[in-house]
Amino acid sequence: MNLPSHVDVCVVGGGQSALALGYYLRRAERERQRRGHPPLSVVLLDRRDGPGGAWLDAWPSLRLFSPAGYSSLPGRLMPTPADGTAPDAAHVVAYLADYEQRYDLDVRRPVVVEDLVGAEDGRGPTEVRTDHGHVQARAVVNATGTWDRPFWPRLPGIEQFAGRQLHTHDYRGPDAFAGKRVLVVGGGNSGAQIAADLLGTAQAVHWVTREPPRYLPDDVDGRVLFEVATRAVRARAAGEQAEGVGSLGDIVVVPPVRAARDRGELHADPLPERLTRHGATWSDGHSVDLDVVVWATGFRPALGHLRGLDLPRRRGVPVTVAPEGATSEMRSADGSPLWFLGYGDWCGAASATLIGVGRPAKEVAADVVAHLDSPG
Ligand code: FAD
Repeated sequence: MNLPSHVDVCVVGGGQSALALGYYLRRAERERQRRGHPPLSVVLLDRRDGPGGAWLDAWPSLRLFSPAGYSSLPGRLMPTPADGTAPDAAHVVAYLADYEQRYDLDVRRPVVVEDLVGAEDGRGPTEVRTDHGHVQARAVVNATGTWDRPFWPRLPGIEQFAGRQLHTHDYRGPDAFAGKRVLVVGGGNSGAQIAADLLGTAQAVHWVTREPPRYLPDDVDGRVLFEVATRAVRARAAGEQAEGVGSLGDIVVVPPVRAARDRGELHADPLPERLTRHGATWSDGHSVDLDVVVWATGFRPALGHLRGLDLPRRRGVPVTVAPEGATSEMRSADGSPLWFLGYGDWCGAASATLIGVGRPAKEVAADVVAHLDSPG
């Protein structure tokens, strides 16, 4: 595959965040053309074989937190599934594939971005180095998600455990666990959903969490979370204190989680003190035998391709700032032509959701275009 040698904007990633940005760059392009500017050259580079980003790897029972109408990217409503149920991952993948075609987004796949080399003067083009050659880009937006960087915590004994260990990243449904004794580690949505998913197939499911699980109220779904996040953004922009989504709880009570909880089968124990060769032990002396440990312990932003840039970091992620008039802190604080989109709170409240990425994507597009149009 040939890549363009020079572009105005290179987007690293081709998932939902990258597509939302592509949509707003298309809109900005039309506006600029009316003012006599030439077309914008934009390329999206994605390591996957096909459209869908992280949704390509979801397990069969995974359903969206919200109805289709509240899970849409800008410009195009997600259709409701024909049977009226909550959309599954295949439905999202089909929607994203249609979206990128509809807006004629130039996504090149599979292309792995390996490295970025910034201009010496900090203003010139950035060299985007890939496994298919190099691209010089006047602006680079990182929209690589978190799915490619699963987080494995350190629990004593992890190396001694003789059974299978896997991360949410590699969980593809309960069938492979028939008759197995499984420890599911993690108190977030993946942990609750995987524990509920395994009940009835695995021989035993032990769900363990660092803190007692914090369920959101049963009537709270992605719509409410988005409204809370929106209110928090507005309040912070007005200089007021605001409770974010995290204050409500961690676990959305999707139907399979609610059913398992209401049957009294979904309960969490504290983390074990250590893993042993054949199981886990707790500080009170009790232990269980295990065949498998599933680490539902979250993800970190997939930013390995930035390791050569020596960006200032805070809490493990590059330091970002909100350009004037924007609510999202999505531009690299060192002034280089580098933006971040879709990783969650540190670069835009609710930006890691389908409905929530629209606002930060619009702000990134506006700031990128302002950068391209600025003299010098
Ligand atoms: P991704 O979808 O991960 O896309 C990033 C793309 O960039 C990928 O294709 C990746 O392979 C590619 N990439 C990464 N690094 C490179 C590189 N170096 N070079 C080239 N390409 C690269 N969200 C909702 O809105 N509603 C829900 O109901 C919902 N439920 C969820 C349930 C679970 C259990 C989980 C784990 C997540 C859920 N999410 C939900 C969140 C959602 O799945 C993700 O936040 C979303 O996929 C993020 O989109 P993205 O485009 O930022 O990243």
